[in-house]
Amino acid sequence: MKEIGIALLGLGNVGLGTYRILTQHAKDIERRLGARVRVHHVLVREPGRARPEDVPSALLTHDMKTILANPEVSVVVELMGGLSPAREYVEQAIASGRHVVTANKALLSAHGEALFSSAIARGVDVHFEAAVCGGIPIIRTLREALASDRVESLTGIVNGTTNFILSAMADEGSTYADALRRAQELGYAEADPTLDVSGMDAAQKLCLLASLAFSARVSPGSILVEGISTLTPADIAHGREAGFVLKLLARARRVSDGLDVRVHPAFIPAASPLSDVKGGFNAVLLQSAALGASLFSGLGAGALPTGSAVVSDIIDTCRGLLAGVSGRLPLPCAPNVQDVPLLSPGERRGPTYLRFSVSDEPGVLGRIASVLGEKGVSINSVLQRPPRPEDTHATIVVFTHDTREADVIAAVQWIDSLRSTRAPTQVIRIEEGPGLLLSGR
Ligand code: NAP
Repeated sequence: MKEIGIALLGLGNVGLGTYRILTQHAKDIERRLGARVRVHHVLVREPGRARPEDVPSALLTHDMKTILANPEVSVVVELMGGLSPAREYVEQAIASGRHVVTANKALLSAHGEALFSSAIARGVDVHFEAAVCGGIPIIRTLREALASDRVESLTGIVNGTTNFILSAMADEGSTYADALRRAQELGYAEADPTLDVSGMDAAQKLCLLASLAFSARVSPGSILVEGISTLTPADIAHGREAGFVLKLLARARRVSDGLDVRVHPAFIPAASPLSDVKGGFNAVLLQSAALGASLFSGLGAGALPTGSAVVSDIIDTCRGLLAGVSGRLPLPCAPNVQDVPLLSPGERRGPTYLRFSVSDEPGVLGRIASVLGEKGVSINSVLQRPPRPEDTHATIVVFTHDTREADVIAAVQWIDSLRSTRAPTQVIRIEEGPGLLLSGR
């Protein structure tokens, strides 16, 4: 039987999951591929450190040169994470004519276009299914299954850490700090959770998805990105009373002359299938012209779910090698992607949730209502809560009708400068419409 040689760079969570799937499913993979996949090397930082027994120590190396010098290695699988030396190693692999599989969304977000361009120039493939939404085959869907279609909108829950935290806040009434601590204890959040809770991890993934869905060049630095650290269980409870669930939403959709791409917490209808996506699960809801609504969901992280996506990419790469073809699928770099105008966040129109913390005195609601009216922000409904032992300020919650975001922000800035306002106003966008529902075309 033919054999295809590969090298894994990294034997952490995903590296070990990948190695185990390759060895434990070896017979199935052989049958499906008609060839054997053989791991020649596993690159780690410290080859001398104790490793799981099922990984032969003879495979371990710290030296990328050993891997590049082995002519049996046709595919380099980068599962190290970080930018350097992952970038240099991937560049070297491509330059030496090796096909590459990577799970590194940070690397692709920062240097993807240059790496993809070099791969095209060198005639090798780069696969990156595991970089977005772990085990869910969403990259494959956008590159292959929907190559026939025109995606109108893509709305997702693409970060398991923040989804775990928001689910705990919603289900148990935990504060953000308590839910984050528990996520860290259970291994859902890193010791430094900044990338996740700031929304930046979701933004990196969304931009990759958007580049494939819309053939557009979109980077996290050019879109609105807001995290979850200021959200409270009270916000979640107020939203629930109005029929909404709070999620960190990653959204990209076509607008009249370009795209609207953003990551921020949003209230979504309880009837949306995304409302049921809990804990470490991820989901992406697509609206496309021919297929209509389609939903992709599953575990967004973890050794085996992510490893399964990596191994699928390895199998795909090997199929190309066996058939003697490469470059079958377009990569998101020039000329396949183009700059497109992005909707400025202030121009978004939609309903908004506003929570005002105010002094408990007569006339405050009237003042807020008149500022909102002056700025053209129309009120849909109002909730009032008196001060409580845990919150000595009165709370006024306003749900607005569809409004231009710049007008909402102008009104909030004015209201926050009033003597009766006790804390910065909480502003949460409400996202509704066909992009959130599994119905219609
Ligand atoms: P991890 O557990 O930290 O493992 C990293 C591995 O890379 C370790 O084996 C480490 O070696 C090795 N490594 C790091 N720097 C190295 C260097 N300079 N030289 C040689 N080896 C080096 O990371 P992970 O969680 O598996 O994540 C790997 C990648 O998958 C990242 O890009 C991540 O974003 C992506 N990803 C992860 C998940 C997930 O669920 N964890 C999900 C989707 C995507 P040592 O063992 O010697 O330290």
